[in-house]
This record gives sequence, C-alpha cells and structure tokens, in this order.
Amino acid sequence: MSEKKLLRKRIEASKQLNDLMRDYFYRMDRVSKGEEEGKIAWCTSVGPAELLSAFGFQIHYPENHGAMLGSTRLAMEYIPVANAMGYSPEICSYLTSDVGSYLKGETPLSKAYPGIESVPRPDVLAYNTNQCRDVREWLEYYAKEFDVPVVGINPPHGMAEVLPGHIDDVVQQLKDLIPTLEKASGETFDIDRFRESMRLSRECSELWGDVLGLAQNVPSPWTFFDGCIHMGPAVCLRATQEPIDYYRALKEELEQRVADGVAAVEGEHLRIYWEGMPIWGKLRALSEQFSELNACVVVSTYCNSWIFSAFDETRPFESMAQAYTELFINRSEPHKQTHMERMVREYKVDGIVFHDAKTCPNNSNSRYGMPQRLEEELGIPTLVIDADLNDLRMYSEETTRTNIEAFIEQLEENK
Ligand code: SF4
Repeated sequence: MSEKKLLRKRIEASKQLNDLMRDYFYRMDRVSKGEEEGKIAWCTSVGPAELLSAFGFQIHYPENHGAMLGSTRLAMEYIPVANAMGYSPEICSYLTSDVGSYLKGETPLSKAYPGIESVPRPDVLAYNTNQCRDVREWLEYYAKEFDVPVVGINPPHGMAEVLPGHIDDVVQQLKDLIPTLEKASGETFDIDRFRESMRLSRECSELWGDVLGLAQNVPSPWTFFDGCIHMGPAVCLRATQEPIDYYRALKEELEQRVADGVAAVEGEHLRIYWEGMPIWGKLRALSEQFSELNACVVVSTYCNSWIFSAFDETRPFESMAQAYTELFINRSEPHKQTHMERMVREYKVDGIVFHDAKTCPNNSNSRYGMPQRLEEELGIPTLVIDADLNDLRMYSEETTRTNIEAFIEQLEENK
C-alpha cells in the first residue's frame, strides 16, 4: 500500500453508506420510470423535506446532484453550457453545473449506477430561500421545463434572534404549501404522517450531530472531509428510518476509534475549522495535504448545517419553521461570530480556514471582517482561500497549496 493511501483511513461503515445511497438512487429511478408506484418531489437541501415526505414523495435534491457534478469535476464541462444560455458565471455553480448537465442530457448518476439515464422527473418542486435566492431561480427554471408546480418558503433573513413573529410567518407559508402538495401527490394531508416524518428527521439529525461531535476528541476519529462524504443520508434520506440505522453504525465505529485512541490523521498536531463550502473537486487533494501536515480539519459550519435541533414532532409546523429559519446561513453577522467562537472552543481549534466561494457569497463569511475579528477575539490565526464549490476556473492549486503550507507553519509557531 502506498504511503498516500495510508493518509486516508477507511471508515468501515462506508460500504453501508454506498449501499444506502445506491438503493436511494435506484428507488427514485424506478418511481420516475413508472416501474414502482410513487411521486417525485425535488427539494432544496434545507427545504421542507419532512412535509414532502409526509405526502409519500421520493425526494431528489438538486444540490446533492450539484455536489456530485463538483466532485466528479464534470461541472467544468457543464457550467459553460448554462453560461451560454445566460446564467452568469458569478451565480451559484451548483445551479449552473446542474442546469448545464440537464441541457446536455447527462448525469454522473449514469456512470455510478448503470441503468440510470437521467435525474428523476419531478411531479412538484419545493424550495426554501433560507439559504439563498439562487435555489428559487433554479427550481423555477425546472418548473417551466417540466411543466410542474413549484412551491416555496421565503423566510426573513439575517436575524440576530428568531422571534415568534418570524415563526408565525413561516408556519403560515408552510401550511399554504399543502393544497399544491395534495394535488401533486394525490394524497390528503395527514398530521400523524407529518409528525412521524419529523420524528424520524429529529432522530437522524441528533445522530448526525453526535457523530460530528465525536471530532471534539483529541485525536479526532474523523475529519471534515470524511463528513462531506458521510453526510449524504442526513441530507437526502432524512425523514426515513435508513439514515438512523446508518448513523448508529457509524457512531459505534467512531466511538470505538475514540476508545482505542485511533486518529483520523496520524500524529494529529493541529486542529482546523473549515468555514464555508467544500471545494468538491479538490476534496481528496486537500484532505491529503492537511494529513501530510499533521493537521486535522475537525469542524465546519457546512456539515453542521444538517443538525436541526429544534425539530419536535409534538409541534411539527412550529418546530419545522424554527429549525429551517434559525440556520447559521440565515443569521446576522454577530450571531455567526458567536457560533463560531463556541465551535472553536468546543473543538479545541488552532486555526480557521475560510473558503471564499466565488459563486456562493451566501455561504462565504470572510467578506465582512469576520477573520480579523475572530483573530482578535480568540488569538488564533485565520486563512482565506479564494476558490469555489464547483467552478475550478476560480481555483489555483499552486497558490492554495502554498498558502496552506505557510498557514500551517504559522500555526506551529503559534502553538
Ligand atoms: S447556498 Fe450557495 S451553494 Fe448553496 S444553493 Fe445557494 S448559492 Fe448555491
């Protein structure tokens, strides 16, 4: 085995993860082809999945498809196709890669899962602009293409505190979705099914929070880069039983690593916070570089975005409104800073890497003085990487590698 391979410790539960995701994609494909009964909804990644699930929809997440396009680097073939039809290179590169792949009639699913020729055809589309405006534009485009209804939530933005008035507004918006969803699914709304979806999502979210929290241990049993791969079920299969079973198994394995003192990064010496989106096409290269430098990226705001602590099946509408409105991405700058300071302390972080994703200002938090304020408050160094989630035209391998090396040296001196 080469030295490089040793840098990435295999997580045994990965096999179970692969099976789970394979079954998810094939199930949707069968429904889409009419080989199995059901309907398909497309949903944004922090959209009202539990409500859709209560109507029995199988749910496709275009952002998950966007991440696949990024990690396979096919995004680079498809982004220009969307650019050519008027979608700016400066808007979300998940959107442009996904729309480009649709226009070309191609998907990485075909290679990963033989027999799947396209993403599933939607019966309805549902967004939540809690994260950004782009998701609305994205789903409205497909609503026209497929001639199906699109529904959405437009919550207030940038709050220091989420107040009862904000929740009431979003609850009403959620309830307003019901008639369209009843029509698209052919099913009548059932509050008990909705409660059950919320219960399942809550359990999934709690377990996902638990496994992420295991990285607070020194040494950490896994890394942010592992989390980016293992988050699939928390995003795509929440509101079902499958991710609950999966995260129980993953938790057990990682707890064993902690008990045995097994480090994800051999000789872990530095602990890093990754702020912002992953750079999907460079996940492996970055993971290996940090490992070579004995630095473990232990925490991120990104992976933590699918912990919905407020979910409560006894108050399904209110708690759903709360959870999807109080997300980190949707909050004021001071709130974000307080959150990050807490994470730095809890995960014993030595330095913070901010990814300034050029096509996602919404999830890039280095633009209003946050790195400088955190350096001052916490006395730890920060680094800003200029790059993008999917568009590698905005990424310089050489500059990034050099900057990371220099940053790690600075952290060593600071320690
Ligand atoms: S939050 Fe950023 S990456 Fe996600 S859909 Fe919006 S613009 Fe794209």
